[in-house]
Amino acid sequence: MRIDNNSKHHVGIVGAGWAGLAAAVALTREGIPVTVFEASRHLGGRARRVSLNEGDDEIPLDNGQHILIGAYQATLRMMRAVGAAPGHLLSRIPLELRYTDGFHLRAPLLPYPLNLAVALLAAYGLRLGSGMAALRLMRALQARDFRIAPDRSVSQLLAEHAQDAVLCRHLWEPLCVSALNTPPARASAQVFANVLRDGLTGARHNSDLLVPRTDLGALFPDPAARFITAHGGSIHSGTPVRSISRHDGGFRIDGRPEHHSHTIVAVAPQHAAALLAPLEAACPALAATRQAIERIDYEPIVTCYLQYAPGVTTWQPMLGFTDGIVQWAFDRGHILTPDPYRKPDTLSSGLIAAVISASGSHEDMDNDALAAQVHEEIRGALWARKGVNLAPRWTRVIREKRATFSCTPGLQRPVGVTPLAGLLLAGDYVASDHPGTLEAAVRSGVAAAARITTA
Ligand SMILES: Cc1cc2nc3c(=O)[nH]c(=O)nc-3n(C[C@H](O)[C@H](O)[C@H](O)COP(=O)(O)OP(=O)(O)OC[C@H]3O[C@@H](n4cnc5c(N)ncnc54)[C@H](O)[C@@H]3O)c2cc1C
Repeated sequence: MRIDNNSKHHVGIVGAGWAGLAAAVALTREGIPVTVFEASRHLGGRARRVSLNEGDDEIPLDNGQHILIGAYQATLRMMRAVGAAPGHLLSRIPLELRYTDGFHLRAPLLPYPLNLAVALLAAYGLRLGSGMAALRLMRALQARDFRIAPDRSVSQLLAEHAQDAVLCRHLWEPLCVSALNTPPARASAQVFANVLRDGLTGARHNSDLLVPRTDLGALFPDPAARFITAHGGSIHSGTPVRSISRHDGGFRIDGRPEHHSHTIVAVAPQHAAALLAPLEAACPALAATRQAIERIDYEPIVTCYLQYAPGVTTWQPMLGFTDGIVQWAFDRGHILTPDPYRKPDTLSSGLIAAVISASGSHEDMDNDALAAQVHEEIRGALWARKGVNLAPRWTRVIREKRATFSCTPGLQRPVGVTPLAGLLLAGDYVASDHPGTLEAAVRSGVAAAARITTA
């Protein structure tokens, strides 16, 4: 594939998160020249590498521990397209939920629905009747083609289908919070049903957990940037776009001389409205799109890294907690192996990432108090009974206050095609079946590119 210098299109893309980069890769693959503008010096947006300097070591962390699932088909295709082999960069674990209180559910390597039936009926810590109730819920959703009308909260849906406390606490609510990043009492049952449809039904591997073995930069943003520039595209990082203006049937970005036939606004919703507002003079109907974006609310995610002595491990790549503020602990030493893009290192040994999704009382704690509480919960669950007294060498709390949009019932999300010809939106918040995830971001970028290539 080569960039066509005589292409009638030249696309400006604002934002180099996974949506913007996916759009740029998809266009580049079609030979359409792109220029990507990214405000930050780092690519990847809300799924990016963060380097921490500890003594002489530069430790690659992420702005938040991420997990993918086998159903992320568009994301996996994108990774392959830029030479980032999912088989090397992601640990594929058949669906397994293991909690510190002993609850344990594992899907065997059987086709759907047998895998789900065995997982639920044989789960340790779950009564047979509860497993049956969960299967009945799945069957009821399937019978109505996973359509929930009118939309309601996940808590309401679970109550209507008599899901008991153990099921809710260990299965449905953690799935809801992890996937929708919204507490079940406020989360959309429709989007939750979509997640269950995509993740738990269909091909067996859809439900596999894909845990990155590398930092998020190496997973897609870095190889995507290499791909785009190697094929003639440009990426300007550290370049916040301040204005998009109409120019000769197309667009100019920040008054630069280049003419863009199309512009894809691939920034998070809190940044999108300000870029759209000035264009309303040329297209008053754009106000409705901006207003839909402004109505979006947000949910946070906190990741707390704790570095213990090398060799300290939870023995599990991913371990669930139910009693405190920690929801999941990822043992980075267990899952991060040297990757093809960086020199081998052992820096991750003893490094645990604790994840706290959605809003909650933890938001009122300062970083020191929060890290201390996270350490206490991990110590209490894993080591205290064995009399092991470990303390972290350092901790680091990363708070993403607007990690994703709040995925509430009936939320009207803006569509990717705006009323202004040639102006497209991409991002995890753009209307789709999906909650705010990497897959939603990538799909929106690919869809925006397809609007241009098929126009
Ligand atoms: C802590 C955390 C954990 C998460 N965990 C998961 C997970 O486990 N699994 C999962 O699938 N998803 C997860 N997500 C969600 C996922 O990261 C997001 O859905 C996805 O990264 C959104 O990508 P995006 O491209 O739509 O937006 P963004 O990543 O926000 O990208 C927008 C880009 O635009 C840039 N920008 C903004 N304004 C301008 C401007 N004026 N000019 C130029 N550039 C601009 C920003 O700097 C940014 O790089 C998590 C998110 C967070 C924060």
